[in-house]
Amino acid sequence: MGLLMRHIAFIGLGSNLEEPRSQLQRAFAELAGLPETRLVTRSSLYRSAPMGYLDQPEFVNAVAKIETALTPQALLRCLLQIEHRHGRERTFRNAPRTLDLDILLYGDAQLHEHGLTIPHPQMHLRPFVLQPLLEIAPDAAIPGIGQAVMAFEKCRTQTLEMLPDAA
Ligand code: ADP
Ligand code: MG
Repeated sequence: MGLLMRHIAFIGLGSNLEEPRSQLQRAFAELAGLPETRLVTRSSLYRSAPMGYLDQPEFVNAVAKIETALTPQALLRCLLQIEHRHGRERTFRNAPRTLDLDILLYGDAQLHEHGLTIPHPQMHLRPFVLQPLLEIAPDAAIPGIGQAVMAFEKCRTQTLEMLPDAA
């Protein structure tokens, strides 16, 4: 990776189908293997109850911190390719999924384009995003919103259960 144009980004991972823990373990390795990208660190895995559409299995969630020279648009394309390799199908909103990869933060960028909004528009309302994010980045700020820790205090209903690391 070149010395210029490196950005710190945070990726939210979620799965509730077909061995969610191993889906996420594989996804961490695939993030580490992206071009011009380095996996800096990743959170523990967390068990969370579904939100929105409730009649589906519980989720496993995590957050990864990467350093990348990819643009936000190129990064999103790579994430959608990884989801596709995991057999992700898009049926309806909040449907069960083998793997969901969201760009949560990209430096301090605020972006609102067709098909790409950064920061991720719901992240400040989601305990299953904020708890793993705070584990690896306790000082994280969400541009346009404020400190992640404040957002978490407002939306947390309970502490998510941290899962043992073996898949
Ligand atoms: P969700 O993650 O809300 O359950 P999807 O994963 O099906 O929904 O995402 C639908 C679309 O959301 C993606 O095709 C992508 O174009 C768009 N999108 C907008 N902003 C982002 C972002 N920050 N990260 C990932 N996808 C995003
Ligand atoms: Mg998504």
